[in-house]
Amino acid sequence: MRPTGKLHIGHLVGALENWVTLQSEYQNFHLIADYHALTTSLDTSDLYRNSIEMLIDWLAAGIDPKLSPVFRQSQIKEHTELHLIFSMLITTARLERNPTLKEQVRDLNIENVIYGHLGYPVLQSADILLYKGEAVPVGEDQVPHVEITREIARRFNLQYGNVFPEPEPKLTKYPRLPGLDGNIKMSKSAGNTILLSDSPDEIKQKLKKAVTDPQKIRKGDSGRPDVCLVFTYHQKFNTSEIHEIAADCRSGALGCVDCKLRAAGRIGDYLSPIREKRMELESHPQQVYDILLDGEKRGKIVAEETMAEVRKVMKLG
Ligand code: AMP
Repeated sequence: MRPTGKLHIGHLVGALENWVTLQSEYQNFHLIADYHALTTSLDTSDLYRNSIEMLIDWLAAGIDPKLSPVFRQSQIKEHTELHLIFSMLITTARLERNPTLKEQVRDLNIENVIYGHLGYPVLQSADILLYKGEAVPVGEDQVPHVEITREIARRFNLQYGNVFPEPEPKLTKYPRLPGLDGNIKMSKSAGNTILLSDSPDEIKQKLKKAVTDPQKIRKGDSGRPDVCLVFTYHQKFNTSEIHEIAADCRSGALGCVDCKLRAAGRIGDYLSPIREKRMELESHPQQVYDILLDGEKRGKIVAEETMAEVRKVMKLG
């Protein structure tokens, strides 16, 4: 994940919850992609603070740093080294066809794409393959990047010898959680997020402005849960009441204001343990720095081993 600030519930349900579950099944590695953050902002003044904020969110959501090393991309130089080698194994035409890049160019109104942004998935391939990643738990927008990673792994193995696995993406049931404004993706740049750190009252205020079925104008009108964003939130965060909510929305018995307040309450309850753990970690910053330094030491050992293998099969030195 890129350290662009505090995480939102899209990150949680699209990726982070999967990371937590997979910890017991796989050897996980979790990367703070601080170089990747430069693709959309060259300002590095908040990069370290944002990295720590994001790490606190990960730990609060259940990442166990003893099981899963956490580290910054910029602190393990092998990422840049492998990225350079990988950049020789893919054409610019292939990278220009990347649908995620096209989406970002459109959504962020980017007029001139920088070289690093075009090469985003190449650096990401290095991030994944340095640790010989077999499963990549990401949201839907990242699937094309995992496909590029597979192509690069195949190309490298064919050219130099079998070093890398071909990783598979691992999606959750909510690989693209919509934003409060009805946009198909919750994202910081669209300003349509509920943050993991939001208080119950902040969540309520945000939910009040959420977009609902445009055909349901007042309580009593029949609504269509399947086109309603707030119902999507109920499906994820309020599983025990969804049948009742769907029926009452359709019949008109449930108005949108009540429906939103109920969703806000459930999201608040769901996030409450994360928020508490978050506050505890915030009051122990040294513990968080130590976790990061330990993760960087452990990540570096694996990265060095892989790079030694790469250099060997490439007969470099
Ligand atoms: P990013 O902030 O773009 O680096 O995203 C970090 C991870 O969260 C990636 O795996 C994304 O696919 C995932 N993600 C971000 N926003 C959402 C969302 N609205 N729904 C589901 N997954 C998301």
